[in-house]
Parts: sequence; C-alpha cells; structure tokens
Amino acid sequence: MNKSMARKTTDLARREGIIFILSAPSGTGKTTLIKGLRAAYPELRLSVSCTTRGRRQGEVHGRDYYFLESKKFAVLKAKGEFAEWAKVHDFFYGTPRRPLEQSVRLGQDILLDIDVQGARKIKRKYPQAVSIFLVPPSWRELQRRLARRGTDGEEIIRRRLVNARSEIRNIIKYDYYVVNRQVRESLGLLKSIVEAERAKTFRVKRWRIEPLYWQQRELGHD
Ligand code: 5GP
Repeated sequence: MNKSMARKTTDLARREGIIFILSAPSGTGKTTLIKGLRAAYPELRLSVSCTTRGRRQGEVHGRDYYFLESKKFAVLKAKGEFAEWAKVHDFFYGTPRRPLEQSVRLGQDILLDIDVQGARKIKRKYPQAVSIFLVPPSWRELQRRLARRGTDGEEIIRRRLVNARSEIRNIIKYDYYVVNRQVRESLGLLKSIVEAERAKTFRVKRWRIEPLYWQQRELGHD
C-alpha cells in the first residue's frame, strides 16, 4: 500500500491506535525486524520500557529503556504506572501505562517489545491488542545465531535455548506467528499483519463519509 492510500483510509475512518506486541526468544532476529518495521512505518511509536537491569554498551536512557533503581521501579509499580510488569532473567521490566493509553486514544499505533508474561497481561487488559510471536526457523539455526553473537559462554547459550523452548510453547496464545527464515520475507509478513489490523472495521470510532454532491447542494455547500 502506498502512502496516499494510507492517507485516504485515515480520511475516511478515524480509528483508535493499535497496540502491537512482538515477543521472541533471544537470537531470533527481533531487533533487525523492529528496525525494518519502523523504517516502513515511521509513524509507528515504540514503547520504551522501564527496567532495573544495567545499561549495556551503546544503550541510551530514554531511547532503549528507562534504567531505574529497584526502589524507583517499586514506587512506580505501587502507583499503578505500569500497564504490565514482569521479572525477566532476574530483573524487572515494565511498560509505562500513560504513553500506551495516550497512543490508543490519539489513534497512534504503538509497538511493544515484551516477553510472553507481559504479552499475556497486555492482552488481558487490552483485548484489542495484536500479539505476534517471532519463531526461529529451527533449533539448529537458533543455536548457530546465539553462538555467532560471540558474547555469551556455552552455559548461557544452553540456558537461553532451554528458555526459548519453554517460550515457544506459548505460540498458541498469540494472534500471529512469524517464522524468521529471511529478514525480507518476515518483514513482508509483519507489514501485512499491520495493514490488515489497520483495516479492521471494529477499530473505527468514527466514519467520515462526505455527503453526495446533490446533498451538498441541498445543504448549501456548493
Ligand atoms: P533485554 O534485557 O535483553 O533488553 O530484554 C530481555 C527481555 O525482556 C526481552 O524478551 C524483552 O522483550 C523483555 N522486555 C523488555 N521490556 C519489557 C517490558 O516492559 N515488559 C516485559 N514483560 N518484558 C519486557
């Protein structure tokens, strides 16, 4: 779909913003696909989570995550500032509630890169959200990708593979799954999902169907 078609759709129908959830075991190629998706849809907002884990090299506070002390995270949690939160690999992660709700209200689509626990909680709270699970093409390929990163020892890779196995059992709870064999192909599928979800009539809050020309004349608009 080209840009002018997208514009025409928004002229016709005013809809709420869509929450897209993308979950994937580590090593599945999620980061590359998110980049591609955002290049295709620059208007797609990316939810920035809060976390208690330390900042990795190259990560920027406020862009990749809000890096918080455990105490601060607990305060926000108690105040109900998270749409969901979960403990992942010994650290806490939470999706800020306000930007999410603002996006839905303003008709701005937003992408959440969260784990399976978070996806379940978001779907329970916002049933209209769209959840997508990214699957590695095979165990052998996942093993190869994790090893190729060269950042983790054998024991960590083994643990990641065990985690991936239990995470993949959750595919069935997601709305869509995408097997990431090839970036171009997966990106194409992700874009189709975005387009199809944007075209669903149940999301439309208000239709803007202009009066026909003779009705305009009767209304004195010509
Ligand atoms: P990492 O620490 O490698 O950036 O992320 C570890 C895992 O935490 C990933 O699976 C990521 O999707 C997940 N994650 C990141 N932010 C959130 C969040 O706000 N909530 C939940 N539930 N998971 C998150």
